[in-house]
Amino acid sequence: MGVGEALAHAKLATETAGLRLDYANLIRMVDNYLPGFEMQNQMDTLPGKNVEGQLERVCRDIRGRVSRPVAITPAVKAKMAMYKKMLADRILKKDTAQHYLVNDQCTRCGVCAKVCPADNIAVTEAGVQFCDRCEVCYACLHNCPQNAIHMKQEQSTVRFRNEQVSLRDIIDANN
Ligand code: SF4
Ligand code: SF4
Repeated sequence: MGVGEALAHAKLATETAGLRLDYANLIRMVDNYLPGFEMQNQMDTLPGKNVEGQLERVCRDIRGRVSRPVAITPAVKAKMAMYKKMLADRILKKDTAQHYLVNDQCTRCGVCAKVCPADNIAVTEAGVQFCDRCEVCYACLHNCPQNAIHMKQEQSTVRFRNEQVSLRDIIDANN
């Protein structure tokens, strides 16, 4: 739980926005990290994770005005620094242009560019090009309608889409 110290990042983001974070919690879902997890195995874990039940608990807490503050302890800070270094040194540099492979199933529909939150993809006559701003969210890989984007290190070619979130929702969230 807490991989990437998401709660700490949420706290920092709210503080930067001049807000106070009174409640934060985690919802355990499919981990879409393709080099680390086989997606079908991950999807098979969903019933046991009882996402609806987790959401109900969070809604109950919020309705009950439960306080669940986030503490950024020295241990959390150390983990944040470790993940940041790992992203900078290992994932961002290697995963981006040279590790995303687009096969000939690509129709140049442009969906990958639209779902990318980092404006890291350009789709032109020449094909799909990745820049160096990747945030390693894997939205492009999981949402390509042709399953045309791959990584050398992916555990399988299976992709995951959350049926509760439409493509339009993802694209609109970037605008
Ligand atoms: S979403 Fe897939 S098919 Fe569409 S342009 Fe990107 S790689 Fe090609
Ligand atoms: S992984 Fe995410 S941030 Fe990186 S190029 Fe794909 S959509 Fe953009």
